Amino acid sequence: MFDSLSDRLSGVFDRLRGRGALQEDDVRAAMREVRIALLEADVALPVVRRFVDSVTEQAVGQSVLRSVTPGQQVVKIVNDALVEMLGAEAADLDLNAAPPVVIMMVGLQGSGKTTSTAKIGKLLKEKRGKKVMMASLDVNRPAAQEQLKVLGEQAGVATLPIVPGQSPVEIATRALHSAKLQAVDVLLLDTAGRLHVDAALMDEMKAVAAVSAPKETLLVVDALTGQDAVNVAQSFSGEVDLTGVVLTRMDGDARGGAALSMRAVTGKPIKFAATGEKLDAIEPFHPERVAGRILGMGDIVSIVEKAAATIQAEDAEKLAARMAKGQFDMNDLRTQLRQMQNMGGLGVLAGMMPGMKKAKQAMAQSGMDDKVLLHMDAIIGSMTPKERERPELLNAKRKIRVAKGSGTQVQDVNKLIKMHMEMAKAMKQIRKMGGLKGLGALFG
Ligand code: GDP
Repeated sequence: MFDSLSDRLSGVFDRLRGRGALQEDDVRAAMREVRIALLEADVALPVVRRFVDSVTEQAVGQSVLRSVTPGQQVVKIVNDALVEMLGAEAADLDLNAAPPVVIMMVGLQGSGKTTSTAKIGKLLKEKRGKKVMMASLDVNRPAAQEQLKVLGEQAGVATLPIVPGQSPVEIATRALHSAKLQAVDVLLLDTAGRLHVDAALMDEMKAVAAVSAPKETLLVVDALTGQDAVNVAQSFSGEVDLTGVVLTRMDGDARGGAALSMRAVTGKPIKFAATGEKLDAIEPFHPERVAGRILGMGDIVSIVEKAAATIQAEDAEKLAARMAKGQFDMNDLRTQLRQMQNMGGLGVLAGMMPGMKKAKQAMAQSGMDDKVLLHMDAIIGSMTPKERERPELLNAKRKIRVAKGSGTQVQDVNKLIKMHMEMAKAMKQIRKMGGLKGLGALFG
């Protein structure tokens, strides 16, 4: 997700960071490029304007321009503004109410509403230990209730038995009753979709809300529809009290306009991002992580969370301690590469890791795709211990030796060195931003 935006912005910021001193004009020129990148990503115009104005104002300040690392500072300002635009704090589901807590799912037909209902049901059951029940109130589409039942079976989540001929309000009432009897914690109501926002749909939603008093009303919208998704959210929020948005098809969304404008335009937080057809392809939406991904700094926190689940506590502690000091040499990179192999390889991690995406593309072009990790490991293996600790020692002659030793080309060695540099840089940035505060705890 966000690939094209991310590529453009990282180009702008690489150029900014590459210079020692910055003039006001440099910043303004960079901000013009940022503006174009955001518009091309289909972000709503007023949102772009506000964003660029606010960032420019902060970034041309003397404290930034006169600082030791002006480029870095500008990137941090952009990062913070992006996080703000995406909704600052991660918005969690509010399940604080007497059970059964009702979550009403609303949205247009084909937005991925039924799939998302099952995904959230599965997540609440498996990750939060909730007893969950789902009920489809869609009596328009004959197969809709059946579809939720099948998804429920796949997800291991109970669904309300189907009784033909009932109205949505009758089904909702029966679902509540049944959920109470069975001591269900969370009841998910999948309402009917329509092709367009229309009065009948809204009336039905309101009637269901009136009998079920939902604690959460989540609107499901398709990220691929860009600004239309934002418009749909506007229409819905004028009618019902939306508590959050589920953005689907983020897996195919290279532009990111819906994700970036949603909060700023509608005031509604994105609570989940759905990233595929499988029932576990959903994740809570974390603005600060998404901003990191967009700015090409990689989603270090997600990687670390994944890593923490697979690596030895002792290694993890060492790595965390080194990262906290901003240290990251070739040995650390090698440890990470090996962890990546354990975690399911490149497919899972590409795009999350700074520089990894480009390295993967480049290597794929030379036909090395599946073996990239092994090749990288071999390249590091051919370095001397000193070179691993201080990669800057790798001059042209040494690179030739390393390439020969690992059965690769000098350009592969260069790519690895570049990737290492980008990752080391990202670690430092994250550290500067205080982003490691949470990391220590993760490793604990
Ligand atoms: P509904 O009409 O809104 O209930 O939509 P469905 O839940 O039936 O989904 C429509 C289609 O979109 C199905 O084929 C889903 O598998 C697919 N789908 C749903 N969410 C996602 C997603 O996040 N990514 C992708 N790639 N496909 C999705």
